[in-house]
Amino acid sequence: MFKKFWQVSLLALVAVFALAACGDKKEATDSPKSEESKSEKLQLIATFSIINDLLNEVGGDLVEVHSMVSIGQDPHEYEPLPEDIKKATDSDAIFFNGLNLEGGEKGWFTKLTKNVKKEDDKVFEVMKGVEPMYLASEDGQDEEINPHAFLSPVVGIQMVENVRDALVQIDPENKETYEKNADTFLAELTEIDDLYTAKIADIDEKNRVLVTSERAFQYMTSHYGLDEGYIWAIDTEENGTPAQIKALVEFVKEKKVPALFVESNVDKRPMETVSKETGVDIVAEIYSDELGRSGTDGETYTKFLRSNIEKIHDGLGSV
Ligand SMILES: [Zn+2]
Repeated sequence: MFKKFWQVSLLALVAVFALAACGDKKEATDSPKSEESKSEKLQLIATFSIINDLLNEVGGDLVEVHSMVSIGQDPHEYEPLPEDIKKATDSDAIFFNGLNLEGGEKGWFTKLTKNVKKEDDKVFEVMKGVEPMYLASEDGQDEEINPHAFLSPVVGIQMVENVRDALVQIDPENKETYEKNADTFLAELTEIDDLYTAKIADIDEKNRVLVTSERAFQYMTSHYGLDEGYIWAIDTEENGTPAQIKALVEFVKEKKVPALFVESNVDKRPMETVSKETGVDIVAEIYSDELGRSGTDGETYTKFLRSNIEKIHDGLGSV
């Protein structure tokens, strides 16, 4: 349905302009969309913490964002709260990751959009245009899209461009502000992209391997040239079975992996077992499916990306 949306017809575009033209007037009664209690800001919904941050960065003071999956909860499997459904129904637009993060076609997000009857042109996939990478299932039979593209700064650039274009589309009057905010953000992400390249080039070639619990770093490692090891392919499958642990223990020994990492949002015990059985230390906790809580070094998307590469570089480079 999103393909259809993105190939916006001229008619739809005209409609959007017409709506926006009357929606932004001071007189609330002029606008068919406004309600008495509704603020002047665009009311947006983000499925999880990273999208929440992108919308706030690009939207600035013009938007108010409600993030559904809060930090500490799993974006792969989520049960929307009554508040999520109400806010989604009343919102001007809903932003989701896509690439199968929110459970795919039969997942919680698809159900939610059906429930709240949001028009297709008010629902935006932030990963639009990102080339998917695939995970093989444990029996090697099926391939599943890996949703974690946001761990790669180059993908982050594309995500910000998508957010900017979507905000311009729903609120063309404020095009300049969205473009200006996006430019600042994109400049920082370009800097972070360069930082990843430089930091990884600085790691001894034989140590360029990232071991984590979930195979969340596939986009990042393949783009920047790291080998990757993991215990389970995706959080929705069993996490840390004896067979999964045995396979990683063998990988770590064979590749002479210098350091192990564990993600902030997972059960640490399976990786601790791998550490015990290989004698290789877990050197750092890195961010994966969510931002860090407020006040931590991963509280925004750019901090999250910077923190990860610093820890990966220090962990692998210091050996
Ligand atoms: Zn995940």
